[in-house]
Amino acid sequence: AARNAKDVVRGYAPAMGQVFLRRFQLVTQFRQALDTGQVEVHYQPKVALPGRQVVGAEALVRWWHPEYGRLDPDEFVPVVEATGLVDALTSFVMERALIKVREWMDRDLRMSVAVNLSVRNLNDESFPDRVSEALLRHDVPPELLTFELTESSVMEEPERSMPVLRRLHALGVVLAVDDFGTGYSSLAYLRTLPVDEVKIDKSFVLGMGTDLSDMAVVRTIVELGHSLDLVVVAEGVEDDAARDQLVGMRCDIAQGYLISRPLPEDRFEAWLQARTVK
Ligand code: C2E
Ligand code: CA
Ligand code: CA
Ligand code: CA
Repeated sequence: AARNAKDVVRGYAPAMGQVFLRRFQLVTQFRQALDTGQVEVHYQPKVALPGRQVVGAEALVRWWHPEYGRLDPDEFVPVVEATGLVDALTSFVMERALIKVREWMDRDLRMSVAVNLSVRNLNDESFPDRVSEALLRHDVPPELLTFELTESSVMEEPERSMPVLRRLHALGVVLAVDDFGTGYSSLAYLRTLPVDEVKIDKSFVLGMGTDLSDMAVVRTIVELGHSLDLVVVAEGVEDDAARDQLVGMRCDIAQGYLISRPLPEDRFEAWLQARTVK
């Protein structure tokens, strides 16, 4: 059954009517999934180069579906994003993430958490107020919350998303452009966005070892990012060779399987513990 759902969501199902039905099913089940503990937030660490210090973690959602087993975000987030339910998803992840940051602060760990936003959040003028309220309620300083957004999500309706971005930025949360280098990301355009961080898309980082043009893209983004005073993050760092290249380029932060896969909360805490206690 697990295969079936994945095939359907990925669009391989034979009959269109069936595709529609299963998508509809996932959407109708998602609200309940959130309320019954089927949805989990996993955490993947980010480390400051050239060392190993953990500066934060990205929150990545997982759905344990009673019938289809584990669904990864690529299999349900696009479906959920097409509905108003994505507001509930973002709030759920942000709540969990802020509880985590607060726990870390209480243990004298200064680590930030990054939450992925969808285009709907960026076009929602009430979103910044909800963020501000959540930060106050959890007593977390804004600079310990990062939002990751893709350029294409900003570009969908820039006249609506730009004011939301400006208000989020004014709150003091960190804004990062995700998957940079894909799509129509133009270098000049990056300058006009109120962002603090740029995340190089993992496809370039993964290709760096074998493809000189990927290497050139990564180098260019690091240089461009620094010339715009942005913190540059590389995701998809899977081996020492990639890490060493990034250190050589003065990339600021690395994230990837080399450091750790995304982990469920308890395993992330154990990983952190093993890292910090000698
Ligand atoms: P993303 O934001 O680009 O997240 C990075 C993805 O790369 C994650 O996949 C992560 O598990 C994977 N990854 C990390 N390190 C490596 C590595 O070294 N090698 C390789 N090959 N992959 C690596 P994941 O968790 O399946 O998430 C997929 C996408 O789903 C995310 O891409 C993001 O766009 C979306 N997503 C995840 N959680 C949320 C969420 O809470 N809200 C929204 N709106 N979207 C989410
Ligand atoms: Ca991301
Ligand atoms: Ca990404
Ligand atoms: Ca992505």
